Amino acid sequence: MSNCVQSKGHMWCKNLPSHYRDKEGKNYCIFHAPEGCKGDVAQDEFVGLLLRKISEDYKEGKSCNLSGTVFEWHINFKDFYGENVLHKICFSKSLFCRKADFSHVTFNGDALFSKAIFCEEADFEYARFQGSANFSGAVFHDKARFFDATVEGYADFSSVTFNKTSYFSWGAFKNKVIFKNTCYKENAIFKRPVF
Ligand SMILES: [Zn+2]
Repeated sequence: MSNCVQSKGHMWCKNLPSHYRDKEGKNYCIFHAPEGCKGDVAQDEFVGLLLRKISEDYKEGKSCNLSGTVFEWHINFKDFYGENVLHKICFSKSLFCRKADFSHVTFNGDALFSKAIFCEEADFEYARFQGSANFSGAVFHDKARFFDATVEGYADFSSVTFNKTSYFSWGAFKNKVIFKNTCYKENAIFKRPVF
C-alpha cells in the first residue's frame, strides 16, 4: 500500500499505516485523513493515538511533529494541565475543524502553529508558552482567546488572519512579539494585565 499522500510534505507519518481513503481514493494516515475520511476511528480513539504519539516522541527525546494533522473533532488538551506539559511540538498547517482547547496548557518548548487553521474557537486562555509561540500565517475563523496567556520566548503573529474577535492580555509577551501584516476582520481586545 502506498504511503500517506501527505507524507511527502510531512515526512513524520511515512511509516504509519495509510489505509484511510478520501473520495478520490487517495491514501492517508489517520492523522492526515480529511474530515469524514477517518474510517471507523471515533473521537476517543483518535485522541488516544494522538496522546500516544506525543508521549512516545517525548520518551524518545524527539520534538513532536503533528504538522498537517486534521483534527476532525473538538480537541481538549486537558491531559496536559498542571504538572503535565506539552514539550516542543509542531501543529504547523494543521486543521482544527472544531473547537481547539489549549487553555491552561504549559508549552515548555517551542510551539509551532504556523499556517494552522482554526475553523471554530481557539482557546489558549491561561496557556504558558515557556519557549517561542509561532502562529505566523495562521487563520482563526472564529474567536481567538489568549486572555491570561503568556509567552516567554519570541512570539510571531505575522500574517495571521483573525476573522472574529481576538483577546489578549497586556503584558502577555515577555520577549519580542511580531504583529506584522496581521489582519483583523473584527476587534482585537487587549485588556487586564497578566504577570
Ligand atoms: Zn500522513
